[in-house]
Amino acid sequence: MDKHGIGNIHWQLDMLQTIDVGLVVVDRDYSIKLWNGFMANHSGLSPTSALGRNLFELFPDIAPEWFKRKAESVFLLKNRSFCHWEQRPYLFRFKPYRPITGIAEFMYQNITLIPISSADGRIDQLGIIVYDVTDTAVGKRQLRQANEQLARLSRTDSLTQLNNRGYWEQAVAREYLRTLRTGSQACLVMFDIDHFKRVNDEYGHPAGDAAIRRTAQMLNDTIRATDIAGRYGGEEFGIVLVDTDTEGARVLTERLRKAVETMTVEHEQQRIRFTISLGIAPLRGDLPGYEQWIARADQALYQAKQAGRNRVVIFQVPAHDPQGA
Ligand code: GH3
Ligand code: MG
Ligand code: MG
Repeated sequence: MDKHGIGNIHWQLDMLQTIDVGLVVVDRDYSIKLWNGFMANHSGLSPTSALGRNLFELFPDIAPEWFKRKAESVFLLKNRSFCHWEQRPYLFRFKPYRPITGIAEFMYQNITLIPISSADGRIDQLGIIVYDVTDTAVGKRQLRQANEQLARLSRTDSLTQLNNRGYWEQAVAREYLRTLRTGSQACLVMFDIDHFKRVNDEYGHPAGDAAIRRTAQMLNDTIRATDIAGRYGGEEFGIVLVDTDTEGARVLTERLRKAVETMTVEHEQQRIRFTISLGIAPLRGDLPGYEQWIARADQALYQAKQAGRNRVVIFQVPAHDPQGA
């Protein structure tokens, strides 16, 4: 080789050593033939301690069956093969090192396997290229978390942490359709705190807020995980009781009514007692839409108020109005 050519090779080798990408070459027995600077820096293994060693002995984290399957197809088909960090976060478990990626436990890697042919055209070596994609992976994960949090916030009522009205109504619409389709039973409950204006007037608005929060807690403690509760308005709440008949709904709402009646909300040395009124509307096939389901529960609630409050009323279709709208 001429002088110029040798100089070129030195220059290229130097690049391989300093490039910010991992380069490894293994032979068919997975014995390491090349170990560049990136690999040495991140693994702590100098080229002298890595060269000639078996890849799987040196890195027990690498699943041999999986890696061999991938590598054999590269040898056989003479094609490149890729592994994206979302399929498998890393091939070599390295610590991340950049400050921005301090929140990742390890370096996320994209991996490319390339066939390396010898002078006679046989493929007898495999190149492994390791890209550090920790920044991308962490960025994407943070974005996903932020989006999930936003989605949660947008459907949550901030005072009670219950579903807010918009999201709860969507859930009612969904359960309305699901229940009619499956032919199961469901009941909708609306309830409202009695004489809540007095609570605010007597104890102040922050105490009223505490009462609303405590009521929401009691509601959460009383229903099943599958039931769907929401804050419908100021001190008015809604519940979808899935797979529940009228009797089941009556038992649950009575339990909730008694629980609120006997509880005391303590706020800045004040002891606040109050009651709730509840309306139940069983889902019936004659309901034209979920809005009417809510409206019926609301009518039953109104009747409970009229009848003296602190009670449960089950919606009845009036005799003169078979539609019950
Ligand atoms: P009723 O037994 O008929 O329900 O009587 P009520 O006094 O509870 O009547 P109404 O439902 O009309 O009044 C609700 C009151 O709740 C009016 C409003 O000032 C108060 N309110 C609504 N939202 C909030 C809130 O977020 N916090 C507090 N502290 N009060 C609220
Ligand atoms: Mg009220
Ligand atoms: Mg009200």
